[in-house]
Amino acid sequence: MAEQLTLEQIQDFKGKYPKQLWYLFLVEMWERFCFYGMRGVLTIFMFDKVLGLALSEKDANLKYGAIQAFVYAFTFIGGIFADKILGFKKSLVFGATVMIIGNLIIVASPQNFFYLGITLSIIGTGFFKPNISSMVGELYKEGDPRRDAGFGLFYSGINIGALLGGAVCVYLGESKDFGWSYAFLSAAIVMIIGLVTFLFIKKSLGPIGDSPLLHLSSSKRSTKEILVYVGSIISIPLIFIMIKNTDYTDYFMYTIGPLAIIYFLYETVKEKNWKSQKKLIAAFIFILFSVIFWAFFEQSGGSLALFAKNNLHHNLLFFEISPNIVNNTSNSLFVIIFSPLLGLLWLAMAKKKIEPNTVIKFGIGFLFLALAFYTFYYTRFFADVEGLTSLNIFTLAYLVITFGELALSPIGLSIMTKLSPKRLSGMMMGMWFLASAYGQYAAGLLGAGMSSPDGNATLMVKLQGYTEGYKQLGIYALIAGLALILISPLIRKLMQEVK
Ligand code: GLN
Repeated sequence: MAEQLTLEQIQDFKGKYPKQLWYLFLVEMWERFCFYGMRGVLTIFMFDKVLGLALSEKDANLKYGAIQAFVYAFTFIGGIFADKILGFKKSLVFGATVMIIGNLIIVASPQNFFYLGITLSIIGTGFFKPNISSMVGELYKEGDPRRDAGFGLFYSGINIGALLGGAVCVYLGESKDFGWSYAFLSAAIVMIIGLVTFLFIKKSLGPIGDSPLLHLSSSKRSTKEILVYVGSIISIPLIFIMIKNTDYTDYFMYTIGPLAIIYFLYETVKEKNWKSQKKLIAAFIFILFSVIFWAFFEQSGGSLALFAKNNLHHNLLFFEISPNIVNNTSNSLFVIIFSPLLGLLWLAMAKKKIEPNTVIKFGIGFLFLALAFYTFYYTRFFADVEGLTSLNIFTLAYLVITFGELALSPIGLSIMTKLSPKRLSGMMMGMWFLASAYGQYAAGLLGAGMSSPDGNATLMVKLQGYTEGYKQLGIYALIAGLALILISPLIRKLMQEVK
């Protein structure tokens, strides 16, 4: 057997990307297949009157929002336990296993076991999602200019999984020959592939992701680990109840955020070193801005999906296609194509010493977000008398919003790993995703505010309602971007040598 690699050997890689990045890319790709596959079928399955849960459209949407919020909120908890007890590797294996069991439980009987299975998926994703991104960060030395490009490539993997998962699971679930069980089964199978892949490549990560408790005796360590596993199992009924009753989602969201902030402050004070405290505060500012970004961006699963369904022609350039498909896939496709290219651009700029720093990249992200929503708004000028408008302009807006995402989301993962001290890196990555949970949550509220209260409103009235809303979002995104660029000197001071 080969000797275990040291951290220096891993981080001293030649070329653009470390080889371990490709491995983590693959594992995350399968996890996102499973996650986005489930997400893709959730609402339709809950709404299905015969083979699904027969919920009303409103209830299905509320539950969808709740599940999304819970999934991302649990990354914060998963990140903390990885930092304190399990380490990233064990956390990942545990998370993947729980996700697989969750899916298999639903496969057995989607109508009976759906909530139980989803509960396990929430817990599993919490232990998995933040920690794999944190490991990507550890492949790089402090100050290595190749890190953002690495996260760019990793982000493509995320989206390949998302795209495949969405397509395959929805196809299987809706197909007469297969049905919902097969959708969930496919998610379980790919997650098994992901887990097995990870078990094979684990060794190449050397000490990255090992337990932080290696100094303890193995029996003491095992006891703590078992406590985490048992604690997770005990929390199942609690999460189960909260998912079943969406009123609790509000309470949960009101409490988890403030608790997370209190815990963050506690850890920041405990850090003692003023230099690392300042970096943590900078990370927190990025997290706050990301809430706004996701609240706008996530209109894609809500109001933009309805807008696509109701108000768009079916012609894209020279062919015919359902606007729903464009709404669900164009973002992922654009990310897959442009994320590595943008990564290469960052690398080339870094070589010439003209790469923008993270604050400016975030600012650019918001400016693209603003331009994208202005473009969504602009579709109203292409509408015919019935209120149907151009799918081409709509798709163009998705291209623009994708550039915004690429300037902010992979860069956000990267900056979390640059600004967090090692002992808090899982928690900070979890907090980055917790912000997504709030973004999702706010996205639902914003979308509901934009929809026409009158169910019988004409398409023209709907078009005007939505596009007016998009104009507002565009303006707010612009303000957020400008504010960020304005306070950038302050944030850069907090970041010190970090770019
Ligand atoms: N689409 C990305 C992912 O799945 C980002 C999600 C998010 O942070 N909201 O990782």
